[in-house]
Amino acid sequence: MSDRTEDLLARHRAVIPNWVALYYDHPIEIVRGKGNRVTDAEGNTYLDFFTGILTNMIGYDVAEVRQAVERQLATGVVHTSTAYLLRGQVALAEKIAKLSGIKDAKVFFTNSGTEANETALLLATYARKTDQVLAMRQSYHGRSFGAIGVTSNRNWKNNSYSPLNVHFLHGADRHLPQFARLSDSDYIKVCVEDLRHVLATATGGDVACLIAEPIQGVGGFTMAPDGLFLAYKDVLDEHGILFVSDEVQTGWGRTGQSFWGIGNHGVVPDAMTFAKGLGNGFAVGGVVARGDLLDSLHAVGLSTFGGNPISMAAANATLDYVLDHDLQANAARTGSSIIEGLSKAAEGLSVVGEVRGKGLMFAIEMVDPVTGEPSPALAGRMMEETRTRGLLGGKGGLYGNVLRMAPPLTLTDAEAEEGLGILVDVLEEIDREMR
Ligand code: PLP
Repeated sequence: MSDRTEDLLARHRAVIPNWVALYYDHPIEIVRGKGNRVTDAEGNTYLDFFTGILTNMIGYDVAEVRQAVERQLATGVVHTSTAYLLRGQVALAEKIAKLSGIKDAKVFFTNSGTEANETALLLATYARKTDQVLAMRQSYHGRSFGAIGVTSNRNWKNNSYSPLNVHFLHGADRHLPQFARLSDSDYIKVCVEDLRHVLATATGGDVACLIAEPIQGVGGFTMAPDGLFLAYKDVLDEHGILFVSDEVQTGWGRTGQSFWGIGNHGVVPDAMTFAKGLGNGFAVGGVVARGDLLDSLHAVGLSTFGGNPISMAAANATLDYVLDHDLQANAARTGSSIIEGLSKAAEGLSVVGEVRGKGLMFAIEMVDPVTGEPSPALAGRMMEETRTRGLLGGKGGLYGNVLRMAPPLTLTDAEAEEGLGILVDVLEEIDREMR
């Protein structure tokens, strides 16, 4: 590590809380980005398979986004009261409402995914007049009082407190011995029975909402079997319980098969929350929900920065880019070629527990080759050695043993092949050494 990076790391440790995790033994200071690559302060260039944290959804320094922001800056209006009419906000809300598939949808903009989920929880608890909420085991929804309440992943929840009365459901914990051998349809049946049981025995049915990630992000890209949320929705509807899909990681075509992650389950939820990639690096989040629901939350007023002109300029340009270039189809094609390549390579490798994912959201679960137990150490090695070869990824999962990857939706076929090559080479090397 250079003196410059070393010095910055020491200053970081002095003033940033120690739970703000830094990736890599020698953390990286990114100083430039172009296309789907970034360059660090030491001059190393990387193919970025984590894109911030899924924030640079269409890559770095995209002319259309830069020019849209520059045009807004040139007006002199970086921010003005969101109590005034904002053309960019209305235009973006129109697009998202239409894309959502939710009937008579409206949109409320925030600055982050956490705030978006907080808004959805306010909405649901206010509409249903109860603090009882359902969420999924191993979930992550953000750092605020409400969002941490519906989070169950212990690495992120830690010992936090929350005012919500939350019941956690099965659905993402297929690895448990009692579920491991079940077919998808039998597992769904068990999960639905569990939901009915929770409603009948723990709540009396007066529940505000279920909030769930279609693919669990920090949980290690854990996937409930397709159709689970449709089966849940039938039960929720019987009780008038709202369904909120947290699309912070899964939205905008990333999963390839459908535009929203929840589309893979054949469900249109009552509300969806979004953030991360929409502003291609600029902070934008929000909730899209049935208009009557959002309207009912009249007491909450506005968000000072939510829907501001700069983030709306960036988000409109990003979303237009995704749609104009059909990046959902690109995610489906490039993603499935990587997932197929990884799955094929993993067949002979005892250090890989599972390869999973959809579109450009995929993960490699690393295990001890002898015991089959989760191996955070091997996931750490994967991170370090892929970095050395010019590829950035992310680490996560309940046991810290999952390499998570979410490349930009603009990934080219050549870059997909390059990234796959690096991943397979490093996996094979680690596997050889462990034998
Ligand atoms: N929901 C999900 C699924 C997330 O992955 C995250 C962040 O990682 C959040 C919510 C919180 O978003 P933010 O960090 O923008 O507040």
